[in-house]
Amino acid sequence: MTKQSVVPVEAVAATITVAAAEAVVSSSPMFSYPPPLSLRKKFLPHLEIATGGRITSWIESMKASSPTHAKAVAAADDEQLVWAVKHPSALSKFEQIASAAKGKKVAIFLDYDGTLSPIVDDPDSAFMTDAMRKAVRKLGRCFPTAIVSGRCLDKVMSFVKLAELYYAGSHGMDIKGPEKSTAKSILFQPAREFLPMIDEVNEALLENTKSIPGVKVENNKFCVSVHFRCVEEKNWGALFEQVRSVLKEYPKLRLTQGRKVLEIRPTIKWDKGKALEFLLRSLGFADCDDVMPIYIGDDRTDEDAFKVLRERGQGIGILVSKFPKETNASYSLQEPSEVKDFLTRLVKWKHMLMKARSKV
Ligand SMILES: [Mg+2]
Repeated sequence: MTKQSVVPVEAVAATITVAAAEAVVSSSPMFSYPPPLSLRKKFLPHLEIATGGRITSWIESMKASSPTHAKAVAAADDEQLVWAVKHPSALSKFEQIASAAKGKKVAIFLDYDGTLSPIVDDPDSAFMTDAMRKAVRKLGRCFPTAIVSGRCLDKVMSFVKLAELYYAGSHGMDIKGPEKSTAKSILFQPAREFLPMIDEVNEALLENTKSIPGVKVENNKFCVSVHFRCVEEKNWGALFEQVRSVLKEYPKLRLTQGRKVLEIRPTIKWDKGKALEFLLRSLGFADCDDVMPIYIGDDRTDEDAFKVLRERGQGIGILVSKFPKETNASYSLQEPSEVKDFLTRLVKWKHMLMKARSKV
């Protein structure tokens, strides 16, 4: 596929307006490490736009989402308390969750970065611990388990190293079934036609951002991630300008912001929520009333999956966050170590049920 031609300024402006309006309507206002809710609302309309938008707002939202800002991480105590009541710990409410899951077909969906692994400076070093791998391996033996990540499929599989799981890479745009299984192996790539364009943009971003220290451009096959976790704050404006200048040439791609990362993705309507629905269908759970999907994630992109569960009135979403955030998830866990504890409890619960059943 060749590079897209530059569209007229008016057309770009119209696209921005429509896309920004749609973003307000269809997307949830999430920041990774949020400032107080009032600030979040202020910047909400500028989180996800096609190829432009107010630069100041973008940079402000990049600042607001950075945990380097003391104000952002020090949420007021009362706000924390109110949030914790609304989104209680999945560990402290485990019995409630187990009771809701009893007699149902449980399926587990896990984000990777910030959920199974800590967020680290070098995205290539976001390894999960052996203890976490052990917990996920045991989990996969008890329930259908999928890893749903923004990373490309190969990268996330190389981190997790468990061939028996389902994987949805590139925000669900690259889906694969278990390797060592008699089950039909799934391979679904709804954005395949964008592959040459993504490669082209990756090269342009590498070239255009090379003068900015600390930038890490990562080709995630169906999307490109520009990590700014190691970029000095004074250079964020320059970085955003460079990214935007590249994207002006590609109206079929859109820019979104995640946790310490800018992401360039195809404009197709496909996200982690769609991937979740696809996987549920593939597992034969599409029209089942007795299915209980549990989705755990930490990022804005996971909100699409939380939203799907809310709309289905089925299953639960668990947000991994130490700080109050607007979310469609029902429960929370503070960090990956708590995710591990929760998964371990799920396995123990399943073993207990099987043991009780074998005695009948
Ligand atoms: Mg994540």
